[in-house]
Amino acid sequence: MPYSYEAPVSQTLFDRASLVTPGGVNSPVRAFRAVGGTPRFMVSGTGPYLTDADGREYVDLVCSWGPMILGHSHPEVIAAVQAAVARGTSFGTPGQGEVELAEEIVGRIEPVEQVRLVSSGTEATMSAIRLARGFTGRAKVIKFAGCYHGHVDALLAAAGSGLATFALPDTPGVTGAQAGDTVVLPYNDLEAVRAAFAAHPGEIACVITEASPGNMGVVPPKDGFNAGLKEICAENGALFISDEVMTGFRTSRAGWYGVDGVRPDLMTFGKVMGGGFPAAAFGGRADVMAHLAPAGPVYQAGTLSGNPVATAAGLAQLRLLDGAAYEKVNAVSAQIQGLVTDALSKEGVAHRLQTASNMFSVFFTEDEVMNYDDAKRQESFRFTAFFHSMLSNGVYLPPSAFESWFVSTAHDERAVEKIAGALPAAARAAAEATA
Ligand SMILES: *Cc1c(COP(=O)(O)O)cnc(C)c1O
Repeated sequence: MPYSYEAPVSQTLFDRASLVTPGGVNSPVRAFRAVGGTPRFMVSGTGPYLTDADGREYVDLVCSWGPMILGHSHPEVIAAVQAAVARGTSFGTPGQGEVELAEEIVGRIEPVEQVRLVSSGTEATMSAIRLARGFTGRAKVIKFAGCYHGHVDALLAAAGSGLATFALPDTPGVTGAQAGDTVVLPYNDLEAVRAAFAAHPGEIACVITEASPGNMGVVPPKDGFNAGLKEICAENGALFISDEVMTGFRTSRAGWYGVDGVRPDLMTFGKVMGGGFPAAAFGGRADVMAHLAPAGPVYQAGTLSGNPVATAAGLAQLRLLDGAAYEKVNAVSAQIQGLVTDALSKEGVAHRLQTASNMFSVFFTEDEVMNYDDAKRQESFRFTAFFHSMLSNGVYLPPSAFESWFVSTAHDERAVEKIAGALPAAARAAAEATA
């Protein structure tokens, strides 16, 4: 075993899991394949901390991949969930919680005039694409290499982290017909978008992009990129879909829209809006949303959509996310960013910190990362060494070099000190790492 610590209970659980579940996990990146070693089976979370099955505590810089922006087990969110559970867990009818959550979303994000609730980000993007195709009567979809929109068949072409981690160019099980209407272009390249529209006149239903990508590591849009996409779509009768499943309600009160102000036709949400439960949404222009069943002909449905427990959790979390909460997350994020770059610089490790509001990641390269090809040029073997050193000193990072790191309002001085204490050895490990 190349690591200086062990996790025997997690290893036993992983062995059991591997017998009954493919690869031992229910979502690939959790298996630690990119970094090796034993995935940690977590048993509880409080504030900025996770505790694993071996009883070890970690400062959590994953935050469930974004949702836990108030930290784990926030008392007011837990209370809202407990109250909802006590009233019953699913009715298969409309309920007041759905109305309130929809009103909260519409109230925060001006381009969202109407919204439909679903249960995962994947469902949100899949449904938004269907709606765009139904609305325009066109088939083709433009997406960008390195942007991940969930495991929608048509969008699993050159998708981000999961596939980057496994170095698969594409996935078996998606047919040529399903992927054939998808045009994959390099991110941050408006000329490529113009050329694609010129090559397929009257055929492109929509452009879908992460509002600010976080699934190839953090690669923010160049100035004017989202505005350019919006303009090209408008000129060509296509819809502009901004996927804010990761950035929504995280990068500001109104997500990335609140940062760059570019008005999409449709938007997708998930992660933070579920408060740690399966709740997601898509919404946008009322005239487009009016095409959705039962108001219109484009079918979309869900047995657990708008689930009362999930909506209670999401609503409680969003109501706590005021200006002060975002200031706090942004400030602690900036503090941690500074500590990470200082530690790496001190050891002479070539790196680049990229940020999108309080989302950030470290690329082990000197060069600016503008797209997926740039991201793949980094020395990810250095990340592996860095990751394991941090883990052994009680800091839980995303187990892949192609992911955003996430913080919460609960990351306090003690948590920051623990990170600061772990960084020097991790930076040294990154400096000494060999391919
Ligand atoms: C996480 C994510 C999704 C998929 O959401 P799931 O809830 O995992 O299905 C879609 N788009 C983006 C940008 C994401 O980060």
